[in-house]
Amino acid sequence: MPAVINITQLTKTYIMGQTEVRALRGIDLQIQTNEYVALMGPSGSGKSTLMNLLGCLDTPTSGSYLLDGRDVSRMEDAELANIRNEKIGFVFQTFNLLPRQTTLENVALPLVYAGLGKGERQARAAEVLASVGLGDRLDHRPNELSGGQRQRVAIARALVNNPAIILADEPTGNLDTKTSIEIMEIFEDIQSRGNTVILVTHEPDIAEHAHRIVRLRDGEVESDEANDHIIRASDPTHRYNQA
Ligand code: ADP
Ligand code: MG
Repeated sequence: MPAVINITQLTKTYIMGQTEVRALRGIDLQIQTNEYVALMGPSGSGKSTLMNLLGCLDTPTSGSYLLDGRDVSRMEDAELANIRNEKIGFVFQTFNLLPRQTTLENVALPLVYAGLGKGERQARAAEVLASVGLGDRLDHRPNELSGGQRQRVAIARALVNNPAIILADEPTGNLDTKTSIEIMEIFEDIQSRGNTVILVTHEPDIAEHAHRIVRLRDGEVESDEANDHIIRASDPTHRYNQA
């Protein structure tokens, strides 16, 4: 199976007036279908820049990005938007919900671009909201929901198109520990249903849920390894498993 995400020598340089910020300095990364990857690294190391490229929200300065075998690194905006709508669900730290729209409307919105009629959009949105435990909050507006509920609305919106890849940039960054665990359980469920999940986090407890941990530093991959907690869990001789 070819990797669903195949990145070679990807760079991104932001131009700010006279200064250049080299946010990514040559990233090589392959991710297989149904992998569950945590992306870690200090603030400013390039995590969000990489996520935005992975999610087709932006294009690289150089290098290539094959998504399902198609080179998306030099695509025009319109074509990129089509790929994004088809393949990517994006979840942000700050939820990014429309404040005047109900839960149902927020989640149904991406389906407008998919060309579905209103009835179908609402039925699909209600189904996905039920799957994240919000079946009884369809008519609420974001300010009537808790932080964890808002993030679940945002996750439902990311899932509504049935995208193969879910990208989440610090999805629990604004949430307390208990709520974070609930959100992580939803991502685990998404992954177990066959999706590829990539999430950015600062928190080791959150990264523990992933199967592979990629660390960035100064725009480069510092390490890329299987989650050793999961390896320890399958090794009966390891001290973690000797109660
Ligand atoms: P992280 O998510 O790991 O904190 P970012 O990808 O946001 O890192 O940022 C990497 C570097 O790129 C930082 O030096 C940041 O200031 C810079 N940067 C990020 N986005 C932009 C932008 N839109 N314009 C200019 N510089 C940016
Ligand atoms: Mg960031």
